[in-house]
Amino acid sequence: MDKQQEFVLRTLEERDIRFVRLWFTDVLGFLKSVAVAPAELEQAFDEGIGFDGSAIEGFARVYESDMLAKPDPGTFQILPWRAEAPGTARMFCDILMPDGSPSYADPRHVLKRILAKTSDLGFTFYTHPEIEFFLLRSKPVDGSRPEPADSSGYFDHTPQRVGHDFRRQAITMLESMGISVEFSHHEGAPGQQEIDLRYADALSTADNIMTFRLVMKEVALEQGVQATFMPKPFSEFPGSGMHTHLSLFEGDRNAFHESGAEYQLSKVGRSFIAGLLRHAAEISAVTNQWVNSYKRIWGGAQRPAGAGGEAPSYICWGHNNRSALIRVPMYKPGKIVSTRVEVRSLDSGCNPYLAYAVLLSAGLKGIEEGYELPPGADDDVWALSDSERRALGIEPLPQNLGQAIDLMQHSELVAETLGEHVFDFFLRNKRQEWEEYRSEVTPFELRKSLPVL
Ligand code: GLN
Ligand code: MG
Ligand code: MG
Ligand code: MG
Repeated sequence: MDKQQEFVLRTLEERDIRFVRLWFTDVLGFLKSVAVAPAELEQAFDEGIGFDGSAIEGFARVYESDMLAKPDPGTFQILPWRAEAPGTARMFCDILMPDGSPSYADPRHVLKRILAKTSDLGFTFYTHPEIEFFLLRSKPVDGSRPEPADSSGYFDHTPQRVGHDFRRQAITMLESMGISVEFSHHEGAPGQQEIDLRYADALSTADNIMTFRLVMKEVALEQGVQATFMPKPFSEFPGSGMHTHLSLFEGDRNAFHESGAEYQLSKVGRSFIAGLLRHAAEISAVTNQWVNSYKRIWGGAQRPAGAGGEAPSYICWGHNNRSALIRVPMYKPGKIVSTRVEVRSLDSGCNPYLAYAVLLSAGLKGIEEGYELPPGADDDVWALSDSERRALGIEPLPQNLGQAIDLMQHSELVAETLGEHVFDFFLRNKRQEWEEYRSEVTPFELRKSLPVL
């Protein structure tokens, strides 16, 4: 038994913990949990705890349904919220096949595999997410319009109780679980919040995002509201993005940084961005995985003022350009570590393990193949005409889930990164969602056509 495992067992005794929740994530990014008694843990660390994988979205075909959940002692945390306290802890798990080999359906494993390749190349991958979400008075299940929990706007500091108390309580809880928060503020839409996590290695960040979503939902319930990570719950307000700042380090050195270069961006940094751009369309189905995701990143000329809210629609990069898919934030003099790229397409409804895996894979491809970075876009790319954009070589992101799936289906990069099993399951599941959506007659059509036809 290693030191971390011993620490967990000792803490269970000392803190009188009666339940240990073993957490893992399905292919679509939903958190799953199985509780075990502390007495079972030694065996869980050794061999894993068996469960029926066929009950979990995307995990197994029926004939190979036995799987094992093996807790990662480095992720041990006591759960601080009402429903769980006192005496409940959690650990994230790796999912194994009965023969002990990693399950290729485990999103955590998908990310770990590409992180191992990254480390073979001499790099560590860091991520810093800005997570946006809405607080609602309730979550209607019948498809009717939800109601935001407040009516404040960007950076508002008003004595409106909900958002304010909410962020304070939520952040306290995150910190008590070892998740550091860097910024938080009210976002642009009524009820919309943003909380930014401090940068960490990508696996910790993805685990933290899963914890974050649960903590936000728990705290919201305590305050009599509901939290949602749906990418675009309102037609007339901006959606919820999960912009993420990415950087590669070689030891202590920021591999994206080069003093004196344009934007202080090294060749590695430039090729990484070029990779993100070249593969942006084929990885969209993963970074933006819902029918609803594409309502957020729509940037048509007709869009009502404010409704698109700085979500990217075109594949380009820029320095301080908030319409760009990728932004290289202002370099802070003296802060070499701060050179990074911000990817703005991801939304809050993605599976963070898979989304970070495909982004990293695209960036590494750029480095390995020495892709050249195309010129940056200085203009507001939404304000340009289609032909101006074409002349600049700026392509749109996929405009709906159907297009995104078609592009993903032919992507070697995504197939390789996700592995055959996750790739096939994901495509099948998303194709079905798209077919369902296509066959539905929507309120829009009834409003638009029925009165006049
Ligand atoms: N809500 C916007 C989005 O969906 C982002 C707004 C901002 O942080 N600038 O991406
Ligand atoms: Mg922000
Ligand atoms: Mg924001
Ligand atoms: Mg941002």
